[in-house]
Amino acid sequence: MNTASREACVIGAGLAGAGVANALVRRGWRVSLLGAAPRLADGASGLPVGMLSPHVTRSPTPMSRLTALGVACTRQALERLVPVGAGWTPVEVDNRGHDPGRHAAALVRPAALVQAWVDEAQNTGRLALHLGSPVAGVARDDGLWRLLAADGTEIARAGTVVLAAALGSRALAEGLGLALPLHPVQGQLSFGPLQGPALAERPQRDDGVYVPEYRDAGLAPHWPEAVWAIGSTYRRGATDTAITQDAHRDNLARLRALSATAADAMEAALARSQVLGWAGVRCASLDRLPLIGAAPDPAGLGTKPPAQPALVDLPRLPGLYLCCAFGSRGLALAALAGEALAAAIDGEAMPLAPALRDAVDPARFAWRAARRGRS
Ligand SMILES: Cc1cc2nc3c(=O)[nH]c(=O)nc-3n(C[C@H](O)[C@H](O)[C@H](O)COP(=O)(O)OP(=O)(O)OC[C@H]3O[C@@H](n4cnc5c(N)ncnc54)[C@H](O)[C@@H]3O)c2cc1C
Repeated sequence: MNTASREACVIGAGLAGAGVANALVRRGWRVSLLGAAPRLADGASGLPVGMLSPHVTRSPTPMSRLTALGVACTRQALERLVPVGAGWTPVEVDNRGHDPGRHAAALVRPAALVQAWVDEAQNTGRLALHLGSPVAGVARDDGLWRLLAADGTEIARAGTVVLAAALGSRALAEGLGLALPLHPVQGQLSFGPLQGPALAERPQRDDGVYVPEYRDAGLAPHWPEAVWAIGSTYRRGATDTAITQDAHRDNLARLRALSATAADAMEAALARSQVLGWAGVRCASLDRLPLIGAAPDPAGLGTKPPAQPALVDLPRLPGLYLCCAFGSRGLALAALAGEALAAAIDGEAMPLAPALRDAVDPARFAWRAARRGRS
């Protein structure tokens, strides 16, 4: 166990940051959680409603194994902290294409879980929340990490820092000479007030997810309390969050493949300008797996040792960790990532099989590049 200081700064106030901050606080750490915007869940985690379900593949892959573990972890957190109907609802979903059949899932408003993680941590008195605090740089000084504002003033300092700032993690790592292969994938969800009965018994999924009905008192006052939804679009490389009619039309095509009745209703609602949109930017890595673990030391990456070191043995930046690149699976990954990273920060083995730990190791890209250079 790390008994040195047990004080950490976590940068990022979405699912990733709140998940790891909560897990650290529950282990007795004092945590400062920083977000760039004046509110929690200002980024992709502001999604009105998403689906908590595993990524299923014909044979197991790291993502299918991670999300199978992660869905159970998130579900436990929801059951512990968020009342059903006030941020999440258990459902069954009909898979129409891949992995056909009816499956257990949940509809979740991610901000409700973020808020609940923060509330629980704040109730211990060991979480300090700093919203509206964009971090422009991270610098090492006298054995501590200093978090700096754009004007160079110090926002906070700690021996342990977690970059959980989605794409914002890339610029912060770059400032330390560490290149992270993270890229944006913009997406839009189309939704609207549910007027009358739901047009399907349960969610339908193929190339997109149709949610015929989601009720959540927490959606109001921005949005109606009961909505239908269809999503989501994928625009690789885009970072704008403007709502477009083109994206609504994309989602309409997805919906038509799932339910002609619901698509006709959406088309009529579009004509009446009664379709709402929400757009956000996912952060994805080169291999689409998350980055969870200690940041590699760029100074130790360029050298070519006579024998290839194991990934786990690559040199690391002391006290600097990453928790990002959740792509389209933030709900399935955040609780597991938080628990796993908090264990690693506390000096324990990550509660993940070695192959999964390597699959999410932030040093894997540099390690693979070094291997390619050697062959
Ligand atoms: C349209 C759409 C549909 C989706 N549907 C689903 C779904 O159905 N199921 C699912 O599981 N996932 C879904 N996702 C993905 C999910 O929303 C994300 O994986 C998840 O929200 C990512 O959480 P995060 O905390 O990593 O990032 P974010 O929520 O984006 O949070 C990043 C945080 O970092 C902060 N930050 C950034 N830079 C800095 C800085 N320099 N200083 C301080 N703070 C900083 C931001 O202020 C923000 O608080 C969807 C995403 C989109 C866009």
